[in-house]
Amino acid sequence: LPRPSATSCTRDQFNMEACTITYTNWMNSKWRSEQVGAMEYYNWEMPNVLIIYNLNSSCHQGSVPVIAVNATLPEYFQAMIKFAAKYHLRLVIKITGSDILARSTAPRSFLLWLHYMENMALISQYSSCGSANVTNVVRLGAGVQWGGTGGFLQGGSHSLLSSWKGLGVDQVLQYDVVTVDGQRKIVSQCQNSDLFYALSGGVGGTYDVVVSVVLRIFRSPHIIGTLLSIEASNETLYVTLIRDLVRFLPKLADGDWTTAFIPSFYKAYKLALTPSDPTGYNMLLGSSLIPDTVVRNRQNDLIQLFLQMKRLSVKATSLLINHVAG
Ligand SMILES: Cc1cc2nc3c(=O)[nH]c(=O)nc-3n(C[C@H](O)[C@H](O)[C@H](O)COP(=O)(O)OP(=O)(O)OC[C@H]3O[C@@H](n4cnc5c(N)ncnc54)[C@H](O)[C@@H]3O)c2cc1C
Repeated sequence: LPRPSATSCTRDQFNMEACTITYTNWMNSKWRSEQVGAMEYYNWEMPNVLIIYNLNSSCHQGSVPVIAVNATLPEYFQAMIKFAAKYHLRLVIKITGSDILARSTAPRSFLLWLHYMENMALISQYSSCGSANVTNVVRLGAGVQWGGTGGFLQGGSHSLLSSWKGLGVDQVLQYDVVTVDGQRKIVSQCQNSDLFYALSGGVGGTYDVVVSVVLRIFRSPHIIGTLLSIEASNETLYVTLIRDLVRFLPKLADGDWTTAFIPSFYKAYKLALTPSDPTGYNMLLGSSLIPDTVVRNRQNDLIQLFLQMKRLSVKATSLLINHVAG
């Protein structure tokens, strides 16, 4: 039965040994992914999850599903989907629980937990859609972490290596899926191609359950990475910083550098979600890929966009930038 991750530390269900483990691992992503009820960002289990700091609190189910199946075989997927449809249950699917918009948990839902479907197999020669053999291919089971079949690939799967080989989802040759009517299907560019298109960024948990995926792999490149954190001490300098950075982006791209901007609006999110929560932070995050044509041809619009976004922040905004070249 899934329970909120801090259950063992609450008044009603206190257990010293389990609570010590919980306390030690509270911010540990791997440990969180191993708990059937846990989300990576615990605010999605329950807002105001004070338990770890307050042994007097009691524990509610919050947004944690009420029942889960530890699915290890595709047949389980089919049975669960049919069962959920028959009894009108809300079905959610979870691998790591790191979905930043909480799409892998829901109140009063039925959870298909894929954590243990971690099969991985290298395929030296693979042929799909009548094309010549593709070498260096891997088949990943549904639960392979991190960056596998679910939210990562179906969410588009951008990375700092995207300017080199494209998105993660661009490497997919085939999906093995169970559709919402419980049927098992092979999906590729030449078989069920509409579904293939939908799965290529159409968001996890939307179209079907992916059982496994076949995708191209590449030898790790040699890269240089930098992580810059530049702080502008006042508004004027901030505007100058954004303007100069955006104008510099085409040069970086020409030099094969990939750039990720991470403007920090943490304080705004924190205020929006829980005005007086002393437990730490809440997380709500989105990301967008900015087309090269926009970076090159609509620089003023991009500058305005960054400046307008900044106004959501209540105090100074910091801008985190990753560069990767190789
Ligand atoms: C610290 C951090 C860094 C990140 N960096 C990147 C990054 O660089 N690039 C990037 O693209 N993303 C990044 N992400 C976002 C990440 O890809 C998403 O959080 C993604 O949803 C995680 O996938 P998951 O399946 O493990 O998550 P889960 O939370 O388990 O599931 C996410 C969604 O996928 C659905 N789903 C899961 N498995 C399946 C399945 N087998 N079939 C159908 N639907 C399924 C779930 O129902 C849910 O809707 C990052 C996230 C974090 C927390």
